[in-house]
Amino acid sequence: MADKKDRWLRNGIVLAFISAAVTAVFVPSVLKWLWELLLSLWRLLTSTVGIPVWLLSLTVALLLALLYQAAKRAMKTLAASAPSFLAYREDIIFGIHWRWSYVGNTLDEPHEFCPDCDTRLLFRDEYGMPPGLVTRNFNLQTVFFCEHCGWQSQPLDGEHHDIINRVMRQIDRRARSGEWQSTLQKKR
Ligand SMILES: [Zn+2]
Repeated sequence: MADKKDRWLRNGIVLAFISAAVTAVFVPSVLKWLWELLLSLWRLLTSTVGIPVWLLSLTVALLLALLYQAAKRAMKTLAASAPSFLAYREDIIFGIHWRWSYVGNTLDEPHEFCPDCDTRLLFRDEYGMPPGLVTRNFNLQTVFFCEHCGWQSQPLDGEHHDIINRVMRQIDRRARSGEWQSTLQKKR
């Protein structure tokens, strides 16, 4: 332990000496160089050149236009990145309250909640025909229901995963069209 501590101390002292030596050699020359640079810049700025007023005005006008364009572009980028659709995380679709999250910028699978009491919904398959006449996937519908308050959705065409996909397409459409912003405002 003590040996290790000694070694650390020795290394520290050596490093401090090297740093001091480097500083003593280089810093004055760097400072001198900086001072000369500042001096020549000052001389350049305070010197006068014979330039026609029209050329000077044109240059200034061009510079101002460039600055204006750059500022406009920066504002646009800022506005585009500010209220992102990633804030859109719930909505009522097909009469059901859906909530979801994002993995990066990609929509994750939404989950269904009761629009009346906010309990997570259950679902069951229903057939549009008497069970004896049912063929595979024929007119299959899904009904969402709440075991807490007894709320029940209209029968929705397709199996559970079909409905999830339909909801995801709706979320995607509303996110891209900007419709989600009015949904968020309605909630406030
Ligand atoms: Zn409920």
